[in-house]
Amino acid sequence: LVPRMRSFGETIFAEMSARAAATGSINLGQGFPDTDGPPAMLATAIEAIRSGGNQYPPGPGLPELREAVAAQRRERYGLEYDPAEEVFVTVGATEGVAAAVLALAGPGDEVIVFEPYYDSYAATIALAGAERRPVTLRPDGGRFTFDPAELRAAVTPRTKLILVNSPHNPAGTVFTRGELRAIADVCAEHDLTAVTDEVYEYLTFDGAEHIPLATLEGMRERTVTVSSVGKTFSVTGWKTGWVTAPAPYVRAVRTVKQFLTYATGGPWQRAAAYGLRNELAWVEELRASLQAKRDRLVGGLEAAGFTAYRPQGTYFVQADIRPLGFTDGIELARALPEKAGVVAIPTQVFYDNAEAGAHFVRFAFCKRDEVIDDAVERLRGLA
Ligand code: PMP
Ligand code: GLN
Repeated sequence: LVPRMRSFGETIFAEMSARAAATGSINLGQGFPDTDGPPAMLATAIEAIRSGGNQYPPGPGLPELREAVAAQRRERYGLEYDPAEEVFVTVGATEGVAAAVLALAGPGDEVIVFEPYYDSYAATIALAGAERRPVTLRPDGGRFTFDPAELRAAVTPRTKLILVNSPHNPAGTVFTRGELRAIADVCAEHDLTAVTDEVYEYLTFDGAEHIPLATLEGMRERTVTVSSVGKTFSVTGWKTGWVTAPAPYVRAVRTVKQFLTYATGGPWQRAAAYGLRNELAWVEELRASLQAKRDRLVGGLEAAGFTAYRPQGTYFVQADIRPLGFTDGIELARALPEKAGVVAIPTQVFYDNAEAGAHFVRFAFCKRDEVIDDAVERLRGLA
């Protein structure tokens, strides 16, 4: 393994899902729903296979999906993208972010990330030969946010990109317009490009509004936006996503993606287009049901003795383990399957400043109510 990848072992998601399987534990670690996506959307993928949609699709994606994505950005956010030149299909948001980082940052460049950060960002920045510069999200009034002064201090003459994930995994924060403005101001001042990961764009609670960074004044021109079907439609295994950005950025991303995977699975693309056009009422039901599940899990974690942070979006809860007498989330997450028959993710692995995240573990609530209740019952034995 090349030196720059040596600090990346097996991902925490693979490790903890394997532990769940080996111990028969309830898996509230890796974020995937235990119920399926919209039936007609699933049927569309099956029909696409039956009707011969099984050879290479166009590299940039099926026109029907690029048009559906352009329509979604326009109708939901008032953002105009040309489906031919400014929308581009990738193998999930993961490839979208990776191709963007590889296309736009290289050796000697720095990339700003908000920590805790999604694990693939760190690995992708390392693959690019660039360096990450973390800005820490800290709890403030029950919600994780950043200090704009720390963001400004993270910029150096080598900064190229800023990676923004909102709604944020694992903190659960939906960035406000004020927070996004602070990011936009830094981008404008230092001529930075923003790459935004908006995979949880529909999963927001209590009226929290997802605002794409590209909608802020001056930002459309310097933002590469990434999203995907996995979370929105409960089909995390489909690995189908898209990038929307001004044409020169899309050309840069395309140059990289051509040689990573060339194209993205055709049947999933056809079904994704169907979902974006026809299943948004289903998504609203999912959103409402997740809000109730969030409250169910937060209430249960509190009853079990954790301090739980009620997220504004995503399907993850950050839980502070100190009230239970624990201090090291990695140790607790490793012991939890044996101790309680539950799997969680130690949030510390998503931080460079380990002490900022040492006492958090992340629980997923995209599960059937009885699964959440069973997990909570088991966790009550911890105190
Ligand atoms: N970004 C974030 C913040 C995520 O939580 C995930 C997990 N699904 C992804 C990207 C990956 O998305 P995809 O499966 O579309 O690659
Ligand atoms: N996004 C999912 C999570 O945060 C996991 C995706 C993965 O397994 N890489 O749990």
